[in-house]
Amino acid sequence: MDRTILHMDLDTFFVSVERKNDSRLKNRPVLVGGIGDRGVVAACSYETRPYGVHSGMPMKMAKALCPEATVIKGDAGAYSKESKTVTEIIRQEVPLFEKASIDEFYADLSGMDKFFGCYEIATNLGNRIRRESGLPISFGLSTNKIVSKVATGVAKPDNQRKVEAGEEKPFLAPMLIRKIPMVGEKTNQILYNLGIKYVKTVQQMPMEVMGRVLGKNGIVLWNRANGIDDTPIVPFHERKSISNERTFGKDTGDVRRMREMIRAMAENLAFQLRNGNKLTSCVSVKIRYSDFNTFSKQIKIPYTSADHLLIPQVEKLFDQLYNRRMMVRLVGVTFSDLVTGNYQINMFDDCEERLNLYQAMDYIRNKYGTDERGNAILSWGTTLGIPNIASMGNPFNGEPPVIPAHRNQ
Ligand SMILES: [Mg+2]
Repeated sequence: MDRTILHMDLDTFFVSVERKNDSRLKNRPVLVGGIGDRGVVAACSYETRPYGVHSGMPMKMAKALCPEATVIKGDAGAYSKESKTVTEIIRQEVPLFEKASIDEFYADLSGMDKFFGCYEIATNLGNRIRRESGLPISFGLSTNKIVSKVATGVAKPDNQRKVEAGEEKPFLAPMLIRKIPMVGEKTNQILYNLGIKYVKTVQQMPMEVMGRVLGKNGIVLWNRANGIDDTPIVPFHERKSISNERTFGKDTGDVRRMREMIRAMAENLAFQLRNGNKLTSCVSVKIRYSDFNTFSKQIKIPYTSADHLLIPQVEKLFDQLYNRRMMVRLVGVTFSDLVTGNYQINMFDDCEERLNLYQAMDYIRNKYGTDERGNAILSWGTTLGIPNIASMGNPFNGEPPVIPAHRNQ
């Protein structure tokens, strides 16, 4: 039976939030991102696009290309709040939905068309979001996630598009191959060199040929190009915090070892945040002494998921906390007040190099990053034997993972 899958995406989300709060920005070129010397564009309004501006480019370059643009330093807290409002509306209207990022959602409307058509349900939902959040949103409706996502892209801005069952292939055929989600710069170049520019060409090729050129990815791409995608909706659950704690096999008074341990935990948790598109604004550290007295201390910080910002906070808290000359039985780290957000958005003051570094490191961790016990290889935690739930995929999708509680070493 055909499914009915809705994809919704808030248009130029950060820019729209800024415009909601300052109407003078309407119809003007706007850049949101890092305003420091080496900041990066996190979002740009449609008015800047004819100048060749795109997100991810150095702010300096964007300003040179479009000097009349208003430049705004991003505010992760404000965007998270608006994202929550929209999420709440969707939760009230549809039983099964997935939050793909801070401004992007999928919903499964299959079987909801008993009394009204799914397109009407989606239209009403879109209108309610526009009315109650004051933010423009676009959506695509089709039989699967990929085609709906592409349809949203076609509909943008502030519009909607439906692709009927059976029409997926002709809908995609005339598009440039890079419009298919997952086709990055590199894949695009490989295909371009082979003379493959449009989706239609891939549709006409045998699947095996794509497999030979691009391996496993080629098969996935061939399916997507043909409008075939049975990826399910991953139900969204809000998680308020993530934590990691460790009971020493033998109580310890070794400060260096304890500091190393909480550093490793913070690093591990930060990686999980980034993997799950989350940011934290509250860090806490816990110590249990050998007499079972337990103390913890927490601090509020600006939203982040970056190691270089979180680890010093954790170390500072530990130093403030560890003040008794007594053996320690357990240490723990918790990140709470979590919000959804790309980790790029908390790096408004950061440079492109650091951003690229995090992306590269996380890519390697995701690809090669686990040993046979499921621990991250590129992590302090591995050597210290800290369980790594990140290796089990995105820890924020589906049910919260079970963290093995063991006591060894
Ligand atoms: Mg968007």
